[in-house]
Amino acid sequence: MSRVSREDTPQERIVYSFLRANRIRFRRNLKRLPGSPDIVLPDHRTVIFVHGCFWHGHKNCRLARRPKTNKEYWYRKIDENIERDKKKSRELRKLGWRVFTVWQCQITSAKSEKTLKRLVTRIDKAQPRDLPSAGRDRSTLLYY
Ligand SMILES: [Zn+2]
Repeated sequence: MSRVSREDTPQERIVYSFLRANRIRFRRNLKRLPGSPDIVLPDHRTVIFVHGCFWHGHKNCRLARRPKTNKEYWYRKIDENIERDKKKSRELRKLGWRVFTVWQCQITSAKSEKTLKRLVTRIDKAQPRDLPSAGRDRSTLLYY
């Protein structure tokens, strides 16, 4: 699934403007990190993935109901995406990054404000000083 020069999704735009409003600096689609995360917060050693519920197989979510036709195709495709997402997160954590996932259904509903506020609280807690210095130094070297 290539992410090259794709358009921002409406969900991503919601997250961007919330981060801006909270004065959190971010970069988009940083290709040098595993899986080129949607949103990278360098000051907080944090990445945010904004996932569409269907494509990324959000568990127990009504937006992620799998099609009844072409079952084999869709199941394989979505399961592959889930696996890829897990792998990306593992790689990023190994490099000392915190990984947060925001789901489409969490920001297109009435819960949106609450979800984003909680996200900002968690971001605030993810200060670089909390992270192991070895991981930080290595990542600094590689990615800045
Ligand atoms: Zn969902």
